[in-house]
Amino acid sequence: MEIMYHSTRDNRKKLTASQAVLQGLAEDGGLFVPDKLPVFDIDIKQMLDMDYKQIAYEVMKLFLTDYTKEELMYCIEHAYDEKFDTEEIAPLVYADRAYYLELFHGATIAFKDMALSILPYLMTTAAKKNNLKEEIVILTATSGDTGKAALAGFADVEGTRIIVFYPKNGVSAVQEKQMVTQKGNNVKVIGIHGNFDDAQTGVKMMFNDQTLKEELKEKGFVFSSANSINIGRLVPQVVYYVYAYINLLKNGKITENEKINVVVPTGNFGNILAAFYAKNLGLPISKLICASNDNKVLYDFFAQGVYDRNREFILTSSPSMDILISSNLERLIYQIGGGDASLNKQLMSDLGSQGKYTITEDMKQQLMDFYGGYADEKKTASKIHTLYDNTGYIIDTHTAVAGAVYDDYRNATRDETVTVIASTASPYKFARSVMTAIDSEYEKQEDFTLIDELCKLSQVAIPKAIEDIRKAPVLHDTVCEKEEMPAQVKGFLGL
Ligand SMILES: *Cc1c(COP(=O)(O)O)cnc(C)c1O
Repeated sequence: MEIMYHSTRDNRKKLTASQAVLQGLAEDGGLFVPDKLPVFDIDIKQMLDMDYKQIAYEVMKLFLTDYTKEELMYCIEHAYDEKFDTEEIAPLVYADRAYYLELFHGATIAFKDMALSILPYLMTTAAKKNNLKEEIVILTATSGDTGKAALAGFADVEGTRIIVFYPKNGVSAVQEKQMVTQKGNNVKVIGIHGNFDDAQTGVKMMFNDQTLKEELKEKGFVFSSANSINIGRLVPQVVYYVYAYINLLKNGKITENEKINVVVPTGNFGNILAAFYAKNLGLPISKLICASNDNKVLYDFFAQGVYDRNREFILTSSPSMDILISSNLERLIYQIGGGDASLNKQLMSDLGSQGKYTITEDMKQQLMDFYGGYADEKKTASKIHTLYDNTGYIIDTHTAVAGAVYDDYRNATRDETVTVIASTASPYKFARSVMTAIDSEYEKQEDFTLIDELCKLSQVAIPKAIEDIRKAPVLHDTVCEKEEMPAQVKGFLGL
């Protein structure tokens, strides 16, 4: 069955999946959603003997229906290869009553690799299918991890250029070093004076700037997005929930049709939305537990039905979740509003003008499968510390937010359902915060000393991504004001 895509703010104009991947964001500022959420066309049991790539195909073909089998397999084969340091791609590790789904075994050691290692292939395939003549310019705002993963994915990919904006003082030392050392003839990395929301808003404004778009087109360029608003980011993320479930089933940790809970450390709401789509496929998921850090705008939303970004932006030790506008939530709002594009458009316009919106009682009723929690800095650090003490397993700060929220959930509900926690980054990526959580004495050490110490404690080899940046030269040192973002883009493209 062919699945078509349309904007969450207007469902009249239909695009194929490949067109939606190419365009990234709808012209009206909405996000592309499938006209019908797909469901499995085979039994989960039939996937028991499949590896990651085969499961990826079974899931992605349900969403990306205009790609041929050959095209999809080509994309999958090239994405999930030796760039990952384990053939399992996404291993499960049991520690203290939960299964940690390690999504950080790709090139940049954060979960963004799961989707960004395939997006360039989905996009260049889409360009061929649709006879696109222009060169694709990927514009990306990053809270730290998307940027590097997108750079790694698109570097030197023919027919593409990539420009990444990040908050100059809002990412970890390792995250920044990873980005500013990026090689490639088609890449540009720019710090901005502002936070992630400023960067994201700046990028969205360029996407919606018709004059800029025409200027670009004249010179043979077209914008696209590698942010999690792109449906080509979201769909590959559905895969690992299915894969995790099959892993549990295959290893006798659950029985057929047994439901599991998933806990997701959330920022832009992409990862947990993928879990929601997985549930809609027919995957037996009970609760979707949405974990926030001190920027607990989603926690408040689930508690009250009011999304309110009017609050102080807090820099935390989990910077990839320091977000007040969770873009992908719009897709859930559209869904629980019964696919009413004009209702969704009204709510998003309230968000634009007042910084908040309130959902209806009916919509709230449909959020029963979600549970919102949050962990402050102290709880997050304490989770890292106690998990290490009790089990020897070391998790990163983002995963620790989820772990701490899960502990609270379990204490509050006594729910003993088998639970998968999305482990979204390697502790090596946030070594300073992780090590000082274990012992404040580490505070005085240099970044790379901490990395060596982390290796000793965890007995996990230092990932190549970290070794690579130890001595790499800085290749990008541009910093600008948020108002200057369009000028920077034009400069790089020679307009
Ligand atoms: C991006 C990111 C998140 C948040 O994911 P969303 O899809 O934006 O909700 C959490 N943890 C890490 C390490 C990330 O890089």
